Amino acid sequence: MGVRENVLQVVSRIEDAAERALRDAADVTLVAVTKTVPPARIAEAIEAGVTCIGENRVQEAERKFAEIALPVEKHLVGHLQTNKVREALRLFDLIESVDSLKLAREISTRAEAAGVPAEVLVEVNTSGEDTKHGFAPGEAAGAVEQMANLKGLCIVGLMTVGAFLPDPEDVRPCFRRLREVRDDIEERVIPGVRMTHLSMGMTNDFEVAIEEGATLIRVGRAIFGERPAD
Ligand SMILES: *Cc1c(COP(=O)(O)O)cnc(C)c1O
Repeated sequence: MGVRENVLQVVSRIEDAAERALRDAADVTLVAVTKTVPPARIAEAIEAGVTCIGENRVQEAERKFAEIALPVEKHLVGHLQTNKVREALRLFDLIESVDSLKLAREISTRAEAAGVPAEVLVEVNTSGEDTKHGFAPGEAAGAVEQMANLKGLCIVGLMTVGAFLPDPEDVRPCFRRLREVRDDIEERVIPGVRMTHLSMGMTNDFEVAIEEGATLIRVGRAIFGERPAD
């Protein structure tokens, strides 16, 4: 199937999942994850209605965004090294993957210098897997409290990469955990912090994520097909 058909099918699955969860599908934004995808194919997804894309790597994004204009919102969803923060701020509208205080401080400093506060999500490691980035669920609220003092940072929610398990029901506890961390942070009423977004759910499990409250779902393969192994 082509990119257009795939986008339309994902959108229809989003609508069905939202309906099951008694949610408004308009409250769920599809972030098309475009790592390894050439700009011409990304453009096809945009023509089919995609309004937001996610890239994993600063350098790949830089090259692709220079190639053709992509009139969409752009999110960084992969791990960010502190030495690439300046480029990331120039390229992306939202950094979804703030996974350390050191990174948060660097983003804040650079954003303040540029005169534009950076919108970010704080990444939480809800699966507990060593290979995944992010704060432990029990540490996330404390980390957000500390980051709230950084003037160049505007925290607008949380992000997680759930466990890679074939049955989406087995990933549901990860999504629940992220929602619980969100609720905990909301109860603390931290000045300057908004918990607008829960970014969770990918090709294998986005419907379950929507049922658990996702506002951003990050979908790659269901739109663009399997990626080459790296
Ligand atoms: C690759 C990636 C996705 C998309 O994964 P699919 O399984 O292709 O939908 C989502 N989030 C992050 C952080 C990714 O790296």
